[in-house]
Parts: sequence; C-alpha cells; structure tokens
Amino acid sequence: MYFTAKSQEAHYQCIQYKQQGLSIGFVPTMGALHKGHLSLIERAKQENDIVVCSIFVNPIQFNNQDDLARYPRTLEADRLLLEQVGCHLLFAPSEADMYPRPPRTRLSFGELEHTMEGKYRPGHFHGVGLVVSRLFHIVQPDRAYFGQKDYQQYLIVRQLVEDLLFPVQIVLCSTVREPDGLAMSSRNRRLNPQQRQQASLLYQSLKEAQRQLLQTRNVDQVKKYVNQYLAGSGIQLEYFEVADAHTLMPAQNIDDHQQIVLCIAAYVGDVRLIDNVLLFS
Ligand code: AMP
Repeated sequence: MYFTAKSQEAHYQCIQYKQQGLSIGFVPTMGALHKGHLSLIERAKQENDIVVCSIFVNPIQFNNQDDLARYPRTLEADRLLLEQVGCHLLFAPSEADMYPRPPRTRLSFGELEHTMEGKYRPGHFHGVGLVVSRLFHIVQPDRAYFGQKDYQQYLIVRQLVEDLLFPVQIVLCSTVREPDGLAMSSRNRRLNPQQRQQASLLYQSLKEAQRQLLQTRNVDQVKKYVNQYLAGSGIQLEYFEVADAHTLMPAQNIDDHQQIVLCIAAYVGDVRLIDNVLLFS
C-alpha cells in the first residue's frame, strides 16, 4: 500500500492510476477504523481497480472543540488494517497540508442545512462539503463510498456532486452494526461499559418506532413513544425525526410510495451518537 501525507503526492499517484486506465474507488474517513469503514473499502474493491482511503479529522466540520480534541486518532493501527484489506493508497494529510490557509468560501445546502444535523451542528456541513470537494479534486475518484449511518451527509454529498458537476458516482453502503444493534462508530470507543450498554437503546428505539409506524402510521404517537422510551435511560435525546428520505422534510402522513427515514441523535454521557433506519427496509 502506498502511504502519503502530502496532497500533491496523492494527487500525482491518482493521476497515474487514471492514465493507466484504472478506475478509482474512494473512501473518505476520519480514521479510528472499524468494520463499518472496512465494509466501504470492501465494496470499493469489488467495483474498482484501485481503492483509495483518506484519513483526516477535519477540524472545520467540528462545531464542538471538545469533540474534536477527543476524537480518537489511531493512524498506525488504521494503516495496518488498510494494508490487510488490500487498500492501494492511504492519504492521511496534516491540517497544514489540507488547509495551507483558512478557506474563505462558504457552502450552504438549502433545506438540508436547517434540519437535524444541520440544525444541531451549525457549520458542520459546510466543513464536510469543503473537505469532500478538496478530497475529490485530489483523488479524482470514479466512485466514492458513504455509509448510511451518516444518511444526511450522504444526501449533502449527492447534492454537492450534482450542483458542482463532480464526475463522481456516490455509492451508499448499509450501516454495519454490533451484535446488539449499535451502529459501529469511532466515537463508540469513548463509551464506558455502562454507557456502551445504554447506547444499544438507540437502535432498539428506532426498530420499535419502525414497527409501530408500519402498523399505525401515526407519526406523533411514535415520536412520543421514543421520547418516553429513552426518558430515564441515561440517554439525552437530541432529536428523533420521521422524515422524507429524499428531502429530510418532516413527514406527517405516511403512504406506501413515500420513502421515509427515521433519524435519531443523542448523547450517551458526553458522547454524541447518531443512527437511522429506512421505514420500508
Ligand atoms: P467517519 O470516519 O465517521 O467520518 O466515517 C467515514 C465513512 O464511513 C462515512 O461515509 C460513514 O458514513 C461511514 N461509516 C461510519 N460508520 C459506519 C457504519 N457503522 N457502517 C457503515 N458505514 C459507516
């Protein structure tokens, strides 16, 4: 596996792949890799000649400085894992390489920006959009792989690619879960054993909400249920939303033709976790 921390080198290497007629599948990450990330790498391997992974904890997408400082960084272990799964190029830039000077352009994403993650993490998607744009320019991928766990991020990236005409196909990959249902996340490493147990309630509440919605179609009742289910559990619910899966606008009435997503964000201790399920999955 080729490893570089320099964007010039990564770019040069990717251009060479392209000149040889090889297709590039790209998996952008913030590291502390787990099986969720590896499933994206695996999918990229199946569909492309070359797999490129980036590891960069992007400071401008964090609106909470504590969260940024405590984000797990395990580059050596990540590098070994990527080597084992047959990744071809790892690009892990420094902050100075990625942002030689502070970017001045602001990105906003219309409606998608004002709901859920956009609402609770102001500026987050600007940071995501900016780093993804830079990474796409450096890597020039044919396809880029994103996890359903960050469903709103996937919609944001799709909109970015559509609006700015990036010649990249965006591929959505299913959420990989622990045996008790908790969505794998780098942030799970920060949970103590008791919090780790509590965290599984997030997925359990989503599954029960999904079951009830299919049966009753009553959004308000299901929202009340989730709030009550998590009250007193040690979990601080930030939001639970039932939304149109394309626009993320709140869904009031549900019919069989509409794609619906159930999204949740909550704090377990000081660790913020998100998850979602599609209604008709
Ligand atoms: P992150 O390192 O958290 O920025 O995630 C990098 C990519 O991996 C994003 O596209 C995430 O949606 C995806 N990802 C993270 N966790 C999972 C998971 N449990 N299952 C599938 N994809 C995931």
